[in-house]
Amino acid sequence: MNTQANPMLFDAIIVGAGPVGISAALLLSQQGVRCALLEKNTLREKPTKPTQQTNSFDGRTLALNLESSRLLNSINCLPSSDSTQAIKTIRVSQQGHFGSCLLESEREHLSHFGITVNSIDLGKKMQESLFAECAKGEGFSLFDGIDFEHIELSDDYSMVSMTLKKNEEAISLQGKILIAADGTQSQVRQYFDFPVTVKDYQQIATLTKITHQNHHQNIAHERFLNNGILAFLPTHLSNPKSSTKETNGYVSSAVWLQTQADTLKNEQLSEEQLTTTLEKLFGKQYGQFLHLSPRSTYAMKETIATKTQKHNVLLIGNAAHSLHPVAGQGLNLGLQDAQNIAQQIALSDCTVESLQRFAHTQQKSLENIRRFVNDLLDRFSSPSKLATLQRTLLMIGFEKATPLRRPFLHHLSGVQTIPPWFWKTLKSLNSLREKSAL
Ligand SMILES: Cc1cc2nc3c(=O)[nH]c(=O)nc-3n(C[C@H](O)[C@H](O)[C@H](O)COP(=O)(O)OP(=O)(O)OC[C@H]3O[C@@H](n4cnc5c(N)ncnc54)[C@H](O)[C@@H]3O)c2cc1C
Repeated sequence: MNTQANPMLFDAIIVGAGPVGISAALLLSQQGVRCALLEKNTLREKPTKPTQQTNSFDGRTLALNLESSRLLNSINCLPSSDSTQAIKTIRVSQQGHFGSCLLESEREHLSHFGITVNSIDLGKKMQESLFAECAKGEGFSLFDGIDFEHIELSDDYSMVSMTLKKNEEAISLQGKILIAADGTQSQVRQYFDFPVTVKDYQQIATLTKITHQNHHQNIAHERFLNNGILAFLPTHLSNPKSSTKETNGYVSSAVWLQTQADTLKNEQLSEEQLTTTLEKLFGKQYGQFLHLSPRSTYAMKETIATKTQKHNVLLIGNAAHSLHPVAGQGLNLGLQDAQNIAQQIALSDCTVESLQRFAHTQQKSLENIRRFVNDLLDRFSSPSKLATLQRTLLMIGFEKATPLRRPFLHHLSGVQTIPPWFWKTLKSLNSLREKSAL
């Protein structure tokens, strides 16, 4: 194996060129921080082919809040408006029960709550910007198609030394800090023995894109079923020039959460049978369902690093927190991480203190969102009559209670931080609910 004579020097080494790693690297580079971005997959060869996309840029449709789209725009990573759809209305409903909740952005004085973007389109745009940044040659380097062999921290934790392997070549790097954005199974996290908690929801999410007769009117639906959840996200219109069956309709991205056993049963369904089943569960509001794209499935687990900073090593994005996607918050949180660490580094350079300060605030905002996600899942999973009644009242009350609803929706849209009293009230309501269940 060939080894270079001297290590290449950087301020920050970032592992993982998913959406969070790329965002962090571009934000830091904009500030003049010399960055090395490491990615195990090969990105440079024909990056426009879906087969060349990294796992994170797959067939999923992502709902991004206003703050995330602003951030992506600031680093030239937001796909053009004809590849995105605005979410203007959110409708929460329960199968077979009266009472739903209709949330409209106009009523909350927002143009829209957020956007949806196909992950593949996001990946293409992000990689384009990444290559453009590399081409500038101003202290920014991408090492793709690599494995890391060895990482060592200096005794005073002011330096990280890494040895990478690319084909038969060994590459040595040095940086002041190491930021791991290498996803849920983070190898860096394992290398440094960061503690994690894993919660298995015993659920599978099945994803498919549905072409339907009527326009989606920019509505995102969350429908709680007797045994699962069905979410519909408005997706951009199919390419009118395309000659596929999708040509003559409007498209939504469906996420169907079910138990593992139910998923196994439904995997046997033909496209026609699945279309009929989904139409029955969703209702006729979008007219007839015309076509379904091939399905993909994801096992639902929450993986949380209980500590995200050790010396000059930091975890961000899914490497730090991988959440259940029911509230569509995972990438929003990851992009917030990228923005916040860039801000801390702008204030106090690539130092252990910057990482410590960042990790402290990261844990706080994560805890609140995590509680909200799990509360939503708990509240809507119980089939009992009492729980159903509670949910109905909650949805009606939430729609009516502007002082409660507006700050919360502004928070989810990323335009305002939620006041601490909101989380305290949620916590008290939960403990009341838990006591009454005893
Ligand atoms: C079904 C589903 C729907 C979702 N919907 C939403 C949504 O609507 N809104 C939302 O905000 N979030 C959503 N999420 C969550 C969102 O997809 C993730 O939070 C996001 O992709 C995490 O990005 P990341 O960059 O942290 O990690 P990843 O996307 O996992 O990227 C990690 C990168 O690191 C690379 N890597 C891994 N190991 C190494 C290594 N050893 N060396 C070098 N590189 C390495 C990988 O190849 C990859 O490129 C959804 C998730 C799922 C599963």
